[in-house]
Amino acid sequence: MTAPALTYGGIHRRLRDQRGPARQHRCASSCSRQAHDWSYTGEDPNELTQRFYGRDRRYSSDMAFYAPRCRSCHRLHDESDRWGGQPPPSRRAAAWLIDYLGSHDGPVLTTQIYAAAEQQGYGRPVMAKARRLAGVASTPVTGHGPNRRLWSLPADFRQTARVENSA
Ligand SMILES: [Zn+2]
Repeated sequence: MTAPALTYGGIHRRLRDQRGPARQHRCASSCSRQAHDWSYTGEDPNELTQRFYGRDRRYSSDMAFYAPRCRSCHRLHDESDRWGGQPPPSRRAAAWLIDYLGSHDGPVLTTQIYAAAEQQGYGRPVMAKARRLAGVASTPVTGHGPNRRLWSLPADFRQTARVENSA
């Protein structure tokens, strides 16, 4: 350690100045939505703590330990970190759902999602909770019989494209 360590606010200012606003990046988790925040990876061996907005935040004063993440992935990442890598099933299912929808080009029918989730050991009640945690939109499908719905990641994908074009 040479220079005095940066504060929590200081490192976030430096990230914005040198790597740009998180919004100009895609989420580092595989959802590929537009990022919202610079998210601490939790991997700095010289990690620091500072009270910020009423909560003790773990952070690093080294930019190498940050990744851009969307709101949902940021929250899920921080929670699984706090739970020692073993978050409750709904949290794990939410992370799985984001990955799953991210790997599909567009909305997916719930029947297909439930079948894939079943193979991961996630039942329907867990998936309903996971959907809300992941910020996934649910829309009814017309002309396919009752109770058919499509789930999709929010339209941030298009916003990301716009951000990249205007950069
Ligand atoms: Zn994300």
